[in-house]
Order: sequence, then structure tokens, then C-alpha cells
Amino acid sequence: MAPKYLIETFGCQMNVHDSERMAGLLEQAGFEATDEAADADLVVINTCSVRERAEEKLYTRLGELRRLALDHGHDPIVAVAGCVAQQEGGAILERSPGVADVILGTRAIRRLPMLVEEARVERRPVVDIDPYDDVTFPLGVARRADPVKAYVTIIEGCNEFCSFCVVPYTRGNERMRPRADILAEVREAADTGHREVQLLGQIVNHYAAPDDPSCDFSRLLEAVHAVDGVERIRFASPHPRHVTPRFLDTMARLPKVCRHLHLPVQSGSTRVLEAMRRRYTRESYLDLIGRIRASLPEVALSTDMIVGFPGETEADFDETLTLTAEVGYHSMFSFKYSPRPNTLADKRLADDVPGEEKTRRIVALQSLQRDIQTGLNQRLVGRIVDVLVDAGSRRRETELSGRTSTNVVVNLPGPPDWIGRTLPVRVERAGPHSVWGRARGDPAIGRDGLTGAPAVPRL
Ligand code: SF4
Repeated sequence: MAPKYLIETFGCQMNVHDSERMAGLLEQAGFEATDEAADADLVVINTCSVRERAEEKLYTRLGELRRLALDHGHDPIVAVAGCVAQQEGGAILERSPGVADVILGTRAIRRLPMLVEEARVERRPVVDIDPYDDVTFPLGVARRADPVKAYVTIIEGCNEFCSFCVVPYTRGNERMRPRADILAEVREAADTGHREVQLLGQIVNHYAAPDDPSCDFSRLLEAVHAVDGVERIRFASPHPRHVTPRFLDTMARLPKVCRHLHLPVQSGSTRVLEAMRRRYTRESYLDLIGRIRASLPEVALSTDMIVGFPGETEADFDETLTLTAEVGYHSMFSFKYSPRPNTLADKRLADDVPGEEKTRRIVALQSLQRDIQTGLNQRLVGRIVDVLVDAGSRRRETELSGRTSTNVVVNLPGPPDWIGRTLPVRVERAGPHSVWGRARGDPAIGRDGLTGAPAVPRL
């Protein structure tokens, strides 16, 4: 019988895609997937260290796996991968003795099957957090979890060193993937039925092809746009200071590029932005938003925001609220600041906003954001939107969900064979996080048959 593996993933899309890569490598090595730790011979925990709470999840999970071994005698090989593995290395073995067998850094993914074998044969923990610089990955190996959307990494690591961020330490310096590798993977994703491609990198719009000096991110978008079978292109995340007129013009010209920009701002206060080392001001960010809206009037914006950064005063926080209201984001990931190891903020700045105050600020910010996005979603009621149906509902068998080009989640009734199709949907009601509607072809809206996807998404 083939040995079984389970991968549990915390964190960002980059981690989700790394897990897809690890799954493919393990299957190549003869493993089969399972959904249950109790059934697994190998459990891989792909960790995130971007917030303190995300990091704590690793130790909670290792405790649960220890109980599984003690109470039920089931003791799978446990591999810890991802950012916490890179950051903590062998210290994980000391903090949770006897549980983890493999510690695998963010740049050692390709060595996972070998390291698991080494730990199994030698019956001792192995640690590999070496800074390999190879960003290539064998074509066709990643086991894509999503039949509609394909993640394609274009850049690894980051050189920005924002003062709060652990990523440059856990994922290393910025390394560009060759254009030829990226396009081969995009073609392979399209050939295997993936309608949407999501280009991933810490700062995607900083892309510069190592194998083609004329290819920047705009040129890469053009090349991906030309691939037959790709219907939609998304990317995460651009950095505000690298948004150029050429990039905006390229986005506006290419209809397959979704009308959504996730543009992390982190704070509305220039003083705090300076302490964060973001290298833009409130004013220059708002000016950029104005230029984006002039080029792409229909674009939806989303962002990341941190509250309670060291030294953030009530006045600074008010600026975060006013900037949020002024931009009118369609969605926001907001977090309470927590110091991260090795970062400049951790070394040089006192974490001086009390915990209760951070909580009060995040509640106020999230409440404002909820009102804004409810209002934006309400505006869709009664309109027809083009939805790429990408999943069945977890709650109801007859319900599907998909997204508009502007990244609004749309729930609709329909059969599973609509998954992967782009359908015109009439929106009937809206909530803060998604809207509900019915597609053409649904008898409840009185139209016969389904039409094909329009060439240019309406919204
Ligand atoms: S740009 Fe700043 S916040 Fe984003 S990954 Fe790089 S260091 Fe972190």
C-alpha cells in the first residue's frame, strides 16, 4: 500500500502554492493524499510567521499531533515547512521535543521527499534551512488543488525590508523566475483547463526577467495575456511605489487582466509609514489612487492595514480611518501589530500601543470597512455581472460560487458542471463579504439556455 500524506497549510497564496508543489513532489515519490492525520504516514505543516498568532498555530498543532501519538499510538513523520521553519530552524525541535522529524526551510521545498526518507531511515530529525538560490521548479509536478485557478510564482523573496515584516528574513532576497519558465507553466495550466492564472510574488510589479532584459512586469502581463485558454489574469501583490504609468496603461489595454488591484497601504499616516519604511506618504498614495482610477475607472481596490504600530497615536489612527473612507476599498486584510523576530521594528521600536487599544482600533477599522464594502456590494444589486464560477458551495450541494473580474464573491444556484465557466449573473442581494444572484439559464429568471462567456468582462 502506498504511504499517505497530509499537508496542512497556513498563511498566504504563496504558501498554498508551495503546498501544491510539495504535494506533487510527494506523489512523484509514491505517496497518496489523505484528509486525516490519523490515516497519514506523513503530516506536513506548511507554516506562516507573518503574525505572532499564525506562528502560534504551529505549536498548537504539534501539541495535537503529540496527543495523537500518545493517546492513539499513531505517530506519523511530521515535517514542518514554510516561514516558521525557516525562521526557527532546529529551535522547533527544542520547543516541541519528539514531535517534528523534518524542518524544511522555504527554499528547500524540492528536497522534501529526500529529507523525509532521511528522517525515516536514520530515525533522527533532519533540518534543512539552507539558502538555495534556485527558483526553478519542474514543470507539471505541482498538484494544483483548484481546477479553475492556477497559481504561478514569478518572484521569490523580497528586498524592501519594511520595518515590521519578516518576509525578507524568511523567504530571502528577491529572486526572479525566468520568463520562459513562467510562460511554460502558464501554458501548462491553460492546457489542463485552468481558466484563471494568478501570478504570485511579494512585489509582482518589480518583476524583471533574468532571461530577457526587455521583459518587465508589463511585458510579462502581455505575454501571459497572449496564451490561448487563459481567460483571466490576477496577480498579488503590487507595491505602491512600483506602480508606473506603463503598468496602468498595460492593465487598461489587456481585457483578460482582472479589474482588481490589491495595493497594500498599511497605514494612513505619513509619520507611521515612515517608521514602517514604506517609502511613500499618505499624499503620494492617495495621488496614486487618483491616477489608478483615471486609468481604470472600474477597478476595485483592496489593501492590507496594520493598527497599533509602535508610536501610532490616536491622530495617526484617525488618518488610517479617513484614508480608508476616502479610498473606499472593496476589501481589506487588517491586523493588530505584533513584533516579528529579526525585524527593524522589533529591534528598534517599543511595542507601545497597549493590547486593549489595538483591539479597540481594529474593531473600529473593521466596522468602518464592513460598512464600506456592504455599500459597494449593494450597488451591484440589479446589475448583470460576469462571474467565473470556481467552486461548489461547502454548505449547499446546489450552490456554486465564483468571482467577478473585480474580485467580488458571487453565490448562485446551479449545477456542478458550471464550474469553470464564465456566466452572466443578475445580482439579487448583497452582504458585506459576497453577493447572491442567478445565472442566465436558471429558470427562476426566465431565460433559456446558457450563453458563452462574453469576450470582455462587464464587471
Ligand atoms: S514589501 Fe514590505 S511588507 Fe511586503 S513582503 Fe516586502 S518587506 Fe514585507
